[in-house]
Amino acid sequence: MLRNKGQSVQCPNHRGHCSANVSEREPIGDEGKYNKVLGDLISQDIKISKFTYDGDSRAFQGVRNSHGHNVGHLRDLRHLGNSLKRELNKAPFSKGMLKGHSKTNIRNRFALSVKARCMAELKAAHNKYQGDIKVLKKVMVDVISTIILCFNGYCGTRCAKYSYVCAGTNRQAKNFMPNNFNVRMVDSDQQVLKKCLKMVLGPAALDATKLLTTTQKCEAANRLFQAVNSKSVTFSRNCVGRIHGQVHKLNNSYADSVIAKTMELHANLTQSSKVIKQLAYEDCNELKRKRLSATIKARALRARTRNYRYKLHEELHYGKGISDPKPDFDSLPHLKHHKYA
Ligand SMILES: [Zn+2]
Ligand SMILES: [Zn+2]
Repeated sequence: MLRNKGQSVQCPNHRGHCSANVSEREPIGDEGKYNKVLGDLISQDIKISKFTYDGDSRAFQGVRNSHGHNVGHLRDLRHLGNSLKRELNKAPFSKGMLKGHSKTNIRNRFALSVKARCMAELKAAHNKYQGDIKVLKKVMVDVISTIILCFNGYCGTRCAKYSYVCAGTNRQAKNFMPNNFNVRMVDSDQQVLKKCLKMVLGPAALDATKLLTTTQKCEAANRLFQAVNSKSVTFSRNCVGRIHGQVHKLNNSYADSVIAKTMELHANLTQSSKVIKQLAYEDCNELKRKRLSATIKARALRARTRNYRYKLHEELHYGKGISDPKPDFDSLPHLKHHKYA
C-alpha cells in the first residue's frame, strides 16, 4: 500500500521523499471496495457464480458490483456457528434454565455445546444425503425438535431415530457442559432455543450453506500474513517486503527460502556449515509437526486434551470456590429495578 505507484496523493507533512499511495484518511477495512477491486482484477479469467462470505454484506456487494447481480451468496459455516453461539449467549432464556453454576461460564458452555451439536448434525446429514437440499430441509425439522429434547434431558428414542450424531445414549447431551449438570427448559426456553437453532438448521440457512463452503483457506492466508504484519504495528516502509518474504518462505519452505535469499544478496552460506545444518534441522521439524498435526490420531488427542482441560477448569472453579470479586449492586436500592445480567 505504500510504494509510490503513480497516484497523486496529497502529502500532509511527511519529510523527505513521500512514498504514500493512499490517503491517511482512507479506511483500510473497506471490504466492499477491495472485493470490487479484486473482482475486477480476476474477471478476465474467472467468472464468480457463488460467493462465500463471513456475513459482512459490504463484501458481497463489492463482488456483485464487479461480477453482476447474478452472483449467489453462501454463508461461511464457521462464522455462522459463531453467530449462533453469540445469539445463544444473549438469548432471553429463563433464569432457572441453567441454574446451579456460575452463570456466565455455564451459559457459554451451553452455547458452545449447542453450536457443536448443530454443526455436527448439519455435516453428518449432508454426508448422508449427499447434499440433497430438499431432503435436508425436510429432515432438519425433526432434528431441531430432537436437539431441544436431547438438551432438555430427554435423550433417547427420538435421538436414535432422528439425530445424525446422537445415538440416544446421553453421550452427546452434555458435550462441553459438566456431567452432573441438568438443563431445565420451560416452554418459552424451548421456543427461544428453536429460533436460535433455525439460524443454522432452518430452510433459509440450509440454502445459504448448501455447499458447506467455508472461508477457512482465506482466513488461514490472512493468519500467515498477520504473522509478519501484526495488527498492532504499522510497517510503513517494508510492509510489502514483509508480505513477499512470508509468501516466499511458505512456498519454498523455510530453509530453501533462506538459502535463496542469502544467495540473492551474495552472502552465500558455506556448504555443511552449522547454519545450513540448523536450517535443515528446523525444516525437518516443521515438516514433521505439520504431518503429525493433521492425522486423525493427533486430532483425537487434541479433543481429549480439550475435554480434560474443561474438566480441570470445572474442578478449579467449583471445587475450591475460586472466583473474582464482584461488586454487589443489590445493596443499592435505587438500582433494584435494573437487571445486571
Ligand atoms: Zn506523505
Ligand atoms: Zn441425544
